[in-house]
Amino acid sequence: MATNGIAGSTALDRLRRRYETTQKKCPACGYVDHGANWTSRTDGRRVVYRHVCPSCDASREHTFRLG
Ligand SMILES: [Zn+2]
Repeated sequence: MATNGIAGSTALDRLRRRYETTQKKCPACGYVDHGANWTSRTDGRRVVYRHVCPSCDASREHTFRLG
């Protein structure tokens, strides 16, 4: 099992998957991104999920605290 060094990475994967499946549609232009290109980054204390609309470049972010 590979690890990226983040405790609870499985839960984080679940969170990202949830965004990928429930938040495909851009609230700004209505574009539906079937690729659901959410990216995640972390500083070890928080995880930030970010999506940039390929149609209008609007970005969305969701931040979670770890632990
Ligand atoms: Zn958009």
